[in-house]
Amino acid sequence: MKNLVPPGAAVGVLGSGQLGRMFAMAARRLGYRVHTFSPDRDTPTGQVADLEVAAPYDDLDAVRAFARQVAVVTFEFENVPAATVEAAAAQVPVRPGGRVLHVAQQRLREKGFLAEAGLPVARFVPVRSLDDLRRGLAAVGVPAVLKQAAWGYDGKGQARIASAAEAESAWAAVGGQESILEACVDFEHEVSVVAGRGLDGSVADYGVIENVHCHHILDLSSAPAAVPEPVAREAARLTRAVLEALDVVGVLCVEFFVTRDGRLLINELAPRPHNSGHLTVDACLTSQFEQQLRAVCGLPLGSTERLRPAAMANLLGDLWAVGEPDWRAALAFPDVKLHLYGKAEARPGRKMGHLTALAATADEARRRVLLARAALG
Ligand code: AMP
Repeated sequence: MKNLVPPGAAVGVLGSGQLGRMFAMAARRLGYRVHTFSPDRDTPTGQVADLEVAAPYDDLDAVRAFARQVAVVTFEFENVPAATVEAAAAQVPVRPGGRVLHVAQQRLREKGFLAEAGLPVARFVPVRSLDDLRRGLAAVGVPAVLKQAAWGYDGKGQARIASAAEAESAWAAVGGQESILEACVDFEHEVSVVAGRGLDGSVADYGVIENVHCHHILDLSSAPAAVPEPVAREAARLTRAVLEALDVVGVLCVEFFVTRDGRLLINELAPRPHNSGHLTVDACLTSQFEQQLRAVCGLPLGSTERLRPAAMANLLGDLWAVGEPDWRAALAFPDVKLHLYGKAEARPGRKMGHLTALAATADEARRRVLLARAALG
């Protein structure tokens, strides 16, 4: 029972964005205290946490002091430096552990791990120079995508390459940084599977969620996904394999491409709750955030049963371009739930909130949530 962190204890979160906010809300509902650590103040997580510590991630004394005040540390932001995680882990358990972060925070390590574990990924090669890129294009073929290996998310630091003549401009677009060159996948759908794994090794997934991206940023998610049953089963099997291979204690999301001939290729891992799992808050018996809490606190996992088909639409800062959105108009849809993250400044592309609709079918839920978003103006 030494691994059990019971309700009433304090849980630490590295990172302070919306994922930490929704985690903190779930944790407080179960009677936990929440401390958050990041360089910023008045953050989405800090606004609902018991304690907000604002210090740089490389202030290891501050990290140790933070960790000493909590019973377990988790994270909501995977680009926390390894030294920060190690400093925290010297005080209390960090779940998921540092190895999961190490693998997931660098695309070459991530794809290398997946390929070595025999998990399906698109053809890829490492690129460390313009010459590498030229050779890589000959091996991988075109079209291809060049992505910075480190610190990339939401399509930042990426370049699509349609012909070998574009090598130089693509290399400039990734800032001449170590990168991964991947074959472009001609996919039919993008889907994800969010799953939790407990300290006892039990795994529970939320089924397949279908995702639509706009300018590389997730725009719309819905569940259940319109994929054949064998594809859904295989996606769940692959997700479990990832969680087990990485010995994850917590929640992890696997993003997949479904090719036109029904094959699954893993695009990315997120070692934490994921934007595509936000619909679990309103639609499932246990949200992905409560599941993360249960897992990292050594509690039994909750049921992932989805009560109704659901769809989630992101609200980006662009919506504020002509003033405050018309919240009343969206809330006039009684089956649509509004989530806002408490961010003061609305910048284009910044995730400010989301809407979730529940309906009799995923198609209907998508239609409703898009209507509600359009009503925001
Ligand atoms: P990522 O930052 O890797 O999640 O990529 C963001 C989005 O870019 C993905 O969700 C896809 O829509 C697209 N994308 C990334 N990699 C590929 C690829 N190898 N083939 C086709 N589309 C891709």
